[in-house]
Amino acid sequence: MSQHYQHDVLVIGSGAAGLTLALTLPEHLRIAVLSKGNLSNGSTYWAQGGVAAVLDDTDTIESHVEDTLNAGGGLCREESVRFTVEHSREAIQWLIDQGVPFTRDDQTAREDGGFEFHLTREGGHSHRRIIHAADATGAAIFNTLLEQAKQRRNVELLEQRVAVDLITERKLGLSGERCLGAYVLNRASGEVDTFSARFVILATGGAAKVYLYTSNPDGACGDGIAMAWRAGCRVGNLEFNQFHPTCLYHPKAKSFLVTEALRGEGALLKLPNGERFMPRFDERAELAPRDIVARAIDHEMKRLGVDCVFLDISHKPADFVKLHFPTVYERCLDFGIDITKEPIPVVPAAHYTCGGVVVDQNGHTDVPGLYAIGETSFTGLHGANRMASNSLLECFVLAFSASDDIRSKLAITELTDDIPGWDESLVTRSNEEVVVSHNWDELRRFMWAYVGIVRKDERLQRAKRRISLLAQETDEYYKHYIVSKDLLELRNLVLVASLIVECSIARKESRGLHFTVDHPGQLDKAEDTILVPSNSPLAKP
Ligand SMILES: Cc1cc2nc3c(=O)[nH]c(=O)nc-3n(C[C@H](O)[C@H](O)[C@H](O)COP(=O)(O)OP(=O)(O)OC[C@H]3O[C@@H](n4cnc5c(N)ncnc54)[C@H](O)[C@@H]3O)c2cc1C
Repeated sequence: MSQHYQHDVLVIGSGAAGLTLALTLPEHLRIAVLSKGNLSNGSTYWAQGGVAAVLDDTDTIESHVEDTLNAGGGLCREESVRFTVEHSREAIQWLIDQGVPFTRDDQTAREDGGFEFHLTREGGHSHRRIIHAADATGAAIFNTLLEQAKQRRNVELLEQRVAVDLITERKLGLSGERCLGAYVLNRASGEVDTFSARFVILATGGAAKVYLYTSNPDGACGDGIAMAWRAGCRVGNLEFNQFHPTCLYHPKAKSFLVTEALRGEGALLKLPNGERFMPRFDERAELAPRDIVARAIDHEMKRLGVDCVFLDISHKPADFVKLHFPTVYERCLDFGIDITKEPIPVVPAAHYTCGGVVVDQNGHTDVPGLYAIGETSFTGLHGANRMASNSLLECFVLAFSASDDIRSKLAITELTDDIPGWDESLVTRSNEEVVVSHNWDELRRFMWAYVGIVRKDERLQRAKRRISLLAQETDEYYKHYIVSKDLLELRNLVLVASLIVECSIARKESRGLHFTVDHPGQLDKAEDTILVPSNSPLAKP
């Protein structure tokens, strides 16, 4: 029997953004936080580096703003950047207050009463401003916030619940546009339950799973972007997908990042025949910026038709390698690769979705009562290229402002409970699951080949044609068969892939992460790519 739940706030997503929002809302509100797998299954848990913030006395807000604008290729929205950076110290203090065990720097604290936590520096940042918990910052943040959330009696944490679609007044044929809740598949019972809420928040993370190779966990299917689009929200800048240059290439190593620090310590990128290739692409060779290295690897793989290239640090003393890179050493050894003796097979991998659901400074979308926060949103902070460690920061700052906005609207927002349940009368159980797995695989492969790191008009058109076929098939399947997590994810991936392709086709220039051989130059005026459901053939009820 399907259930009907009522909450004040429904938070879809239990990563940094969703948990922060739940913890900053007033304790008298009934809040549900959903995760489609285990609570830890988002990207947050896997974040390694840290969180960027202006914490050091010698650093300034101006400097952090300027670095972010420089990285963003002329497309950052300056007021969003400023807003995020201005709230960075407050965000870190809040995390410290929650108990996040950031790595300490006893020396600075002792010597001059300065900031007591260790700060590192990452690409694009002109100061040390990355606060971290060793090399597992995401896990430290997630575990701390989860423990806090578990202690809140008003917060219900619900695992294995896949949001299927948002419920809006428009979809129910009522007058008005408000979001009233969501239909949610309970994976344990197999039923689709109805959740009504006064406010609904999409905190569903990115969409990197649309690509064959990704550093993201399995759930990064762009569900929030797809649900928001179907509910009538604009989306933007989805052509800007950040690729990490080096992910371990091994059939069993799903998404293991090989840190850039290896190249910093002298590791060389080589072709299968042992030849070094980076000096042909950039005078900084292996130390060129992330997007240049990713593009060079992609170019060589496509040119030679090979599955991977190799990252070689075996010329360094074995003790040095083991001391500096214990995690990479151990993990590769698990897969039978001794990096002190042999090169590591690597491929670039989709890492971060810079665009997303268009929101204002409070995370509010185009649909009243619906918010999008974290990686699923598009605030204008990242522009055409995300600067390292600004993404977690955005999760916290946007969750704070969404929380304030919800507080300010509590008195004027009622719960609408008169919502019909999920209708399953016309669907049956599928005996053709192979369609889902095959289409999923096909989509991710051609997205990698045609809409990946280096683009071309012809390839984008090819991808568009294939997607429209997959969309038809997936739609048919969705209409006739009982929903499953895999089917829902495929449906969302196909839609998000089509939105990525539309954004990529619309951008007739190379800017930031979007590089196309047909339009290698940059236009004088930098403009966002905004897609509007009501104007688009991709819009589906
Ligand atoms: C390997 C790796 C390293 C990174 N390192 C850094 C770093 O050092 N610094 C930094 O700033 N950023 C880093 N990032 C990026 C950063 O981790 C993410 O941008 C951020 O964690 C996103 O948080 P989020 O709360 O938006 O979403 P996530 O943490 O991805 O959480 C998404 C949540 O939504 C749920 N969900 C999704 N769809 C549905 C649905 N349909 N129904 C119900 N629930 C759903 C998921 O189950 C999950 O709980 C890294 C990312 C990766 C993958």
